[in-house]
Amino acid sequence: MLVRFWGTRGSLAVAQAAGSIRSKIARALVAAKGRHFADEADAAAFVEDELDFATGGTYGGATTCIEIEATAGDGSFIVCDFGTGSREFGISAFARMAAGHARVFNVFMSHLHWDHIGGFPFFGPAFDPGSTIVIHSGHADVEQAFRRQQDEISFPVAFDWLRAKIEFRVLAAGETYRIGGLDVEVMEQQHSHKSYGYRFTDSAGKVAVFSTDSEHKIESMEGEADVANFFREADLVICDTMYSLADAVSMKEDWGHSSNIVAIDICHEARAKRLALFHHEPIYSDDDIQRMHQESIRYEELTRRDDSLEVLCAYDGLEVRL
Ligand SMILES: [Zn+2]
Ligand SMILES: [Zn+2]
Repeated sequence: MLVRFWGTRGSLAVAQAAGSIRSKIARALVAAKGRHFADEADAAAFVEDELDFATGGTYGGATTCIEIEATAGDGSFIVCDFGTGSREFGISAFARMAAGHARVFNVFMSHLHWDHIGGFPFFGPAFDPGSTIVIHSGHADVEQAFRRQQDEISFPVAFDWLRAKIEFRVLAAGETYRIGGLDVEVMEQQHSHKSYGYRFTDSAGKVAVFSTDSEHKIESMEGEADVANFFREADLVICDTMYSLADAVSMKEDWGHSSNIVAIDICHEARAKRLALFHHEPIYSDDDIQRMHQESIRYEELTRRDDSLEVLCAYDGLEVRL
């Protein structure tokens, strides 16, 4: 199984401003002081190997969109959410369809807030008469949400003008479905207007869990047993860790999101193998997110009981092979 992250930011897409790029370059130049690079490839290797991620890269700013390439799936694209990252994914999908990939998309919606549907009007395959897009959701009002954002008052292309065959299927929480050659288990989560998590198991037995926009309360962790069961022994858990713990328990309680600390506690309980920090807060800089990642790795080491949990920090463009 291969998991690709096309969009990892929460709530609102963000772009790197010029000042941020300048300070990354200035830091890199200081770090490279006295070094000689034979060519651009040599310099690129220095950036990759010796600079920290917040200096040499960026976590990115597109909102939620993840692609899962399953082992021995049915050949369809498996996607989670239509955040703004789905625009880039659509471009990549077109290139792969031109090379013979099936023109079928199975998309699983966590929920219907703007940051999870906002890329759909810019998703190229929706305009392709040869494509079929099946949108799976726990929400009965999923079709209404997609149609409404393309009403003329908000967008120039009405939903009915789209040329792909688009279907909506409502899934029930607690059920396991066979979709796209994967077993897909659905869990209801705590969030404004609810959200749903998905547990994907491919025919090689690899498990990825997509669980975003879900609030776990640290003072009622015994109530999280269902969540730990849903995450059980997963190879990868993609988890809403929008806030640092201090933010989550102070001013942002009941905002419908969770912290890195709570996610690590639940993943330990579940004996999961990898956790991807995800749905990054838009006001956090790359330095802030990198610091949170480092603190998360330290917290995991301090609280580890049995097997270690690898803590990744999702960024736009990350690929994880399970
Ligand atoms: Zn969100
Ligand atoms: Zn939300």
